[in-house]
Amino acid sequence: MPAAPFPMYVDGAAHVPDRPAREVRSPGDGTVAGRVLLGTPDDVDRAVTAARAAAPAWRHTSVFDRAGLCRRLADAVVARKDELATLLTAEHGKPFHSEARGEVDAVATAFRDAADQVVSLRAESIAVRDPAKRVLIQRRPRGVYSVITPWNFPIAVAAIYYLAPGIASGNTLVWTPAPSVSGVASLLTGVLHDAGLPSGVLNLVTGEGPVVGNAAIRHPGVNAVGFTGSTATGHAIAQAGAGKPVQLELGGNGPTIVLEDADLDLAAAAIASGSFGNAGQICTSTERVLAHAGVAADLAERVAALADKIVLGDPFAAETTMGPVHTAELADRVCAQITDAASRGGRVLAGGGRPDDAPTPHYVRPTVVDDVPPDSDLHVAETFGPVAPIVRWNTPDELRALVAASGFGLSGAVFSRDVGRAITLAEDLPCGIVNLNEASSYWEPNIPAGGTAGSGSGHGRTGGPWSIEEMTEQQAIVISTGPWEA
Ligand code: NAD
Repeated sequence: MPAAPFPMYVDGAAHVPDRPAREVRSPGDGTVAGRVLLGTPDDVDRAVTAARAAAPAWRHTSVFDRAGLCRRLADAVVARKDELATLLTAEHGKPFHSEARGEVDAVATAFRDAADQVVSLRAESIAVRDPAKRVLIQRRPRGVYSVITPWNFPIAVAAIYYLAPGIASGNTLVWTPAPSVSGVASLLTGVLHDAGLPSGVLNLVTGEGPVVGNAAIRHPGVNAVGFTGSTATGHAIAQAGAGKPVQLELGGNGPTIVLEDADLDLAAAAIASGSFGNAGQICTSTERVLAHAGVAADLAERVAALADKIVLGDPFAAETTMGPVHTAELADRVCAQITDAASRGGRVLAGGGRPDDAPTPHYVRPTVVDDVPPDSDLHVAETFGPVAPIVRWNTPDELRALVAASGFGLSGAVFSRDVGRAITLAEDLPCGIVNLNEASSYWEPNIPAGGTAGSGSGHGRTGGPWSIEEMTEQQAIVISTGPWEA
């Protein structure tokens, strides 16, 4: 008998319809981590119906009661941290000790922050020409949200970007997670319900994105869409959600620029953390390093020395600092990009592909390539694996051309001891967020993050108060007071 599949959740109860189920295999050792139900548009319809039914009471619940609930949800997540982190590591492949437990903590922090922030939302009153009118402008929830999330941070992206701000601000949600990490999404949804989340506020439908995610976006009962994932899928989602507010948090290939006066130890440490954290599977990873030719070789050696210290291995082992990448196809793609750059003049200083003795094809060694040809995929595409590609430049014009070579616009970084120069350079970068003397992947959820307009990285801003703003809309209430009488 195969193990029971991970339940979906509809109207506060586990929903386990008779549907085909797919085995989820652990990237770490290939063992079966569980079975995910492949839901249908009918499951989506039930979930949307439940979310619509729950919406009026939830939005009229006192904001202090919603905040109080969010704090209890945070406590419940912390109480079951190891259980959540174990399934997260099994399904995703990220190291249990150094990364998965931290991701669970981030979920709890998201609910606590949302509780604090939502009670601070203010309404305003504006002046109008008619002296017999008063106008109140308040923010209110958008209604029923379709939330579609990627596999790289299966529960942190979901909670920080959508679940915590959405629930706190009075929306009801239908969540369709990536199929390969649906077990931990199901477990988290169960934990939240056990802690008192009212029925219908958060509904979970598992299955293929083009089936269940697409049905949710298009459902007439859904008011708004929050999507995080790849650029190609984001563009399909923008079309499917035409006419609805659609927030798009998409891919990145942000430049990390190292000027000739940079502190190279600082830069190397930040690049190693930005390129190899979460095995490079972060939208704001240090995807490409644009180093001044005068310091590039020295910098590359330092990053390579740090890459060699990383312990790649069993994601449950205490000593492991980097796990496998999530899919074998991703590992194939990353290795092909490394091989292509190396065949055209790139110099591999650390790593260079798969290790010889890994239990699954998902393992890729932390890799540093210097002298990367500027037209190679390693430079212009989103790599999403543990690679630090270094591209050299000599003049500001060359640097500008390199920055412009990739159409993304999410995050970037600048390393220089001259803060004024770093700021003016940052202001010219087409990025939603630029970190000075810090890794491109550094982020706290109170900082607005998102793509710059017209780039491949989407639009909208996420994080703490910015997410609450994104998931609410202004409503003006005009009050007739009658004429003033002495
Ligand atoms: P993906 O686009 O393949 O999938 C994302 C989600 O969309 C999944 O849940 C998937 O099931 C669903 N989906 C796929 N096709 C769909 C369709 N036609 N209709 C509705 N839903 C559909 O992305 P991924 O590989 O899971 O995630 C990696 C990508 O996410 C990277 O590009 C990364 O940069 C990006 N990302 C961005 C941010 C950010 O804040 N900008 C954060 C994390 C990840």
